[in-house]
Amino acid sequence: MTHVICEPCVGVKDRSCVDVCPVDCIYTDENSPQLYIHPLDCIDCTLCVEACPVDACLHEDDVPPLWKSFIETNRKFFKL
Ligand code: SF4
Ligand code: SF4
Repeated sequence: MTHVICEPCVGVKDRSCVDVCPVDCIYTDENSPQLYIHPLDCIDCTLCVEACPVDACLHEDDVPPLWKSFIETNRKFFKL
């Protein structure tokens, strides 16, 4: 299990989650519209959930149907 970043991050990218993640597992690049959580490195601490101003960080099990594709979107960024 892991946490994932969903649609509300698109275009926001304020990096509040990066500032609180204890294992530095949240990444992006200049060409990406959002940030992504490394699914193997995330320790499910939930700090990013509390820090995100737009509620984009969710536990994988809590992702609503509309955003299920973002689970794969996060994995693909890391070529997993
Ligand atoms: S749940 Fe914790 S470890 Fe996982 S991405 Fe969020 S802050 Fe990082
Ligand atoms: S805190 Fe939320 S909106 Fe900001 S970069 Fe992280 S996931 Fe995106």
